[in-house]
Amino acid sequence: MTQGEIRDLPGLPKTLVDGHLRFRREEHAKNRGRYRQLAELGQAPTAMVVACCDARVDVSTVFDTEHGELFILRNVANLVPPYEPDGKYHGTSAAIEFAVQVLKVPHLIVLGHSRCGGVEAYRQKVRGKVPERGFIGSWLTMLDNLKIDESEIFEYGDETAFEFAAIRSSLTNLRSFPFIKKRMKEGLLALHGLHFDLGSGHLLALKEGSERFAAIGEP
Ligand SMILES: [Zn+2]
Repeated sequence: MTQGEIRDLPGLPKTLVDGHLRFRREEHAKNRGRYRQLAELGQAPTAMVVACCDARVDVSTVFDTEHGELFILRNVANLVPPYEPDGKYHGTSAAIEFAVQVLKVPHLIVLGHSRCGGVEAYRQKVRGKVPERGFIGSWLTMLDNLKIDESEIFEYGDETAFEFAAIRSSLTNLRSFPFIKKRMKEGLLALHGLHFDLGSGHLLALKEGSERFAAIGEP
């Protein structure tokens, strides 16, 4: 501990303080050069990931990536709004604009997941239960008129079919951004839809050129 550092911040859980000190002692100390390089040269992530806020969807852990490798945006139900240049607060669109226009990421991934509370709130509304209100309610109106694949309900169950449909909806909305369309046309950007199963730890991916999800397995 250096002079002026405080050991326990009032109210900050001890597990977080201890975790941070462990990070500095172990991870940061081992990769000091890489951290310094990132600080000096800036970020150059290999992909942007739009994931859910859900605490169980730890993106860097799922992909076993290094510090600085992914540009991650997390929001309720991993949703991307359509392109709306209306001067309002668009946090998700701003992050996407930065990743594509400034960082020029070659891959943009929408990462959905099982047991998604956000998608479930929307599903409950569709299935005739009480609609969600407040900010979440407004946010989920983005999913209104979501197209659910009946064969996926049969194969995976109602909850998962809604999660798949929400991923497809985000991908459709991503294609409505002119700068995304342009970079895709130039072959400089690829979009991907993935679904993470919390229990098994497995990923399902939308197959290129197909609307079907398939498991990612060992080669
Ligand atoms: Zn979720």
